[in-house]
Amino acid sequence: MNALEVVDLSFAYGAREALRQVSFSLAPGRFAALLGPNGAGKSTLIALLTRLYDVQRGDIRVGGCSLSRTPRPALRQLGVVFQQSTLDLDLSVEQNLRYHAALHGLSRRQSALRVDAELARQALTERRRERVRELNGGHRRRVEIARALLHEPRLLLLDEASVGLDPASRLALNQHIRNLCREQGISVLWTTHLLDEVQPSDDLLILHQGRLVASGQADALSLAHGGDLGSVFTRLTTSGAAR
Ligand code: ADP
Ligand code: MG
Repeated sequence: MNALEVVDLSFAYGAREALRQVSFSLAPGRFAALLGPNGAGKSTLIALLTRLYDVQRGDIRVGGCSLSRTPRPALRQLGVVFQQSTLDLDLSVEQNLRYHAALHGLSRRQSALRVDAELARQALTERRRERVRELNGGHRRRVEIARALLHEPRLLLLDEASVGLDPASRLALNQHIRNLCREQGISVLWTTHLLDEVQPSDDLLILHQGRLVASGQADALSLAHGGDLGSVFTRLTTSGAAR
């Protein structure tokens, strides 16, 4: 069963169309990169996947559960790191995680176990009592990843998670998520506008002006379009190409 299925999804902010008949599916345990320039519709898609916005047209299924008809089991399978950080800067790393675990309805005992496990997995155990304000950008992102994984979702969504990090931290974070995907079998949807965060074996979705203009394994896509991925991306996302 697919980790995620998006079927004919369209969304408009008033008269402004942000997504137009987007369809794709994501197989379990895969790293999928959703690549698109600013304004392509990436965050709108994440907002629909997390039910921040209601679906207007089309359907979203998470692990086979329709997000609009059976939201609870669908949402339970999702973890998300939004584009804008939502950590409380004045709470410690551990307090941020505990608070979130409580929101998910985890008991105190379960919460303590899960927080310990995720802190260890994100190499944050030694920083657990530090206030988030004192952490650098890369560590803050890892706290958000730990938080997103507390309830053991099967699909992790990350919206431009690397924005604002220096190049080395950016690629380290990307690699870190790839390791999680490979070692834990979690499916990942990683949105970005940066081509160097895509690897040849990734499932690649290219979004431009609200339309999916290409999808497939990245190496196959560049072959099919007769060039390197950079020129494919530029060609497909040059203004007006999607119309
Ligand atoms: P991305 O995340 O790829 O940069 P967005 O999903 O944020 O793209 O935006 C897609 C389009 O929708 C853009 O044209 C943007 O201006 C528009 N948009 C985004 N959020 C809103 C909003 N709250 N109200 C109106 N238009 C919006
Ligand atoms: Mg965005």
